[in-house]
Amino acid sequence: MSQNNNTSSPHVLALPYPSQGHINPMIQFCRRLSSKGVKVSLALTNFISNTLKPRSDGHVSLVTISDGYDEGGFTEAGSVDTYLDRLKTIGSSSLGQVIEDHVGTSHPITCLVYDAFLPWALDIARVKGVCGAAFFTQACLVNYVYYLVYHKRLDLPIVKTPVEIRGLPLLEMRDLPSFVDSLGSYPGYLKLVLEQNCNLDKADFVLVNTCYELEKEVTDAMSKECPLLTIGPTVPSFYLDKRIDFDKDYGLNLYHIDANHTTACITWLNSKPPRSVVYVSFGSMACLPVEQMEELALGLKQSAFDFLWVVRQCEMDKLPMGFIDEVVNKGLIVTWTEQLEVLANESIGCFFTHCGWNSTLEALALGVPMVGMPQWTDQPTDAKLVEDVWKVGVRVKVGENGVVKREEIVKCIIEVMEGDTRLNFAENAKYWKDLARNAVCEDGSSDKNINQFVSKISSS
Ligand code: UDP
Repeated sequence: MSQNNNTSSPHVLALPYPSQGHINPMIQFCRRLSSKGVKVSLALTNFISNTLKPRSDGHVSLVTISDGYDEGGFTEAGSVDTYLDRLKTIGSSSLGQVIEDHVGTSHPITCLVYDAFLPWALDIARVKGVCGAAFFTQACLVNYVYYLVYHKRLDLPIVKTPVEIRGLPLLEMRDLPSFVDSLGSYPGYLKLVLEQNCNLDKADFVLVNTCYELEKEVTDAMSKECPLLTIGPTVPSFYLDKRIDFDKDYGLNLYHIDANHTTACITWLNSKPPRSVVYVSFGSMACLPVEQMEELALGLKQSAFDFLWVVRQCEMDKLPMGFIDEVVNKGLIVTWTEQLEVLANESIGCFFTHCGWNSTLEALALGVPMVGMPQWTDQPTDAKLVEDVWKVGVRVKVGENGVVKREEIVKCIIEVMEGDTRLNFAENAKYWKDLARNAVCEDGSSDKNINQFVSKISSS
């Protein structure tokens, strides 16, 4: 571990990748550290800071860095490659400056926790003499697949399936992260996820947002390769152990959320019987093809159940003409919501989800069975865990033209909402919910790992 020869208490600087699904878990980890007496600062981009004007929660301080796109953020860049290149160049010097600015103060930065998507941050930590911890926001299973590919222990293109790796469930092509499965579809992103491993052996810690109980075998396997600590699920304490009284939500929405809409949503859900509503969301990034949006809309309309559907503003015009009015008696459509509050509502019977890792962990932590309709990146692998490993739901079958048909959507919803299958999924969901919660309770597996992390950075 690096030494910066200072004897003051630890000060962690946390650097998330600037997207919703990466900022949420990092904020949560920061709050966990803060609740254990560590001083923590969270670095947001100038763009996010200027547009959302977030305020500190009084526990985690906020600092800003430049990603090179202070005016328009990611959209200003035009392409993934351009964004990532500039983020690395400008972000490196900006990050170095933040660390430099704290030297000689009463709280110099002693440890950098950086999103594993930004491995160059470890170089800055080294240059500045602070310790470095990579923070993985995806499932350990996904991280390990990328690790093996990066180290050429799993060759691309993958020609023989199922992929058999000791400690991992058998993986068919459709279970693999899409960047590995559909080789060439997103070369920029493939490079990004593989590069996470370029200097992992040099990191002082490798923190993963999962808990040991959820991914035992693969955690054991990857722990043999690097100093891995599972520290999740990074869901606000209010929904887990309730030990951190100020931690009730993620605290930073990149999408506009209207408090009146949230109240309307919860009032609407409260008017519904227990376990009667399907909550539908595809997270912050997925863009469904128009034909898929139509099948989903018609599937939800045909299904016997009420539904709450998050359709981001940019996806709204893909809804069939007149759809919102046609379903007014059974469906509520909103552009963004407080997902945790929704999932915790008694009326929710299942989560129809894209299986983003945060959404998956949130549903697990709240004991909500799922219908998985993964779109890309790590989501297919998360759906595999949901259906075949934890058995807390089903995954839709994709039709020949790549579109999931309305009949399939209805069938899957019935399977998770009705009859004996519902009871099985509900029972399994309760089992995993208890394990996930226990992991962050005092002396749970993640709690112990976080304590170990705190103790080591305190004595370095
Ligand atoms: N989310 C939310 N409101 C919504 C939809 C999503 O607060 O209406 C949150 C959700 O709780 C999760 C995050 O956005 O924490 C999405 O992360 P995930 O990893 O599930 O998917 P991504 O957006 O990265 O694809």
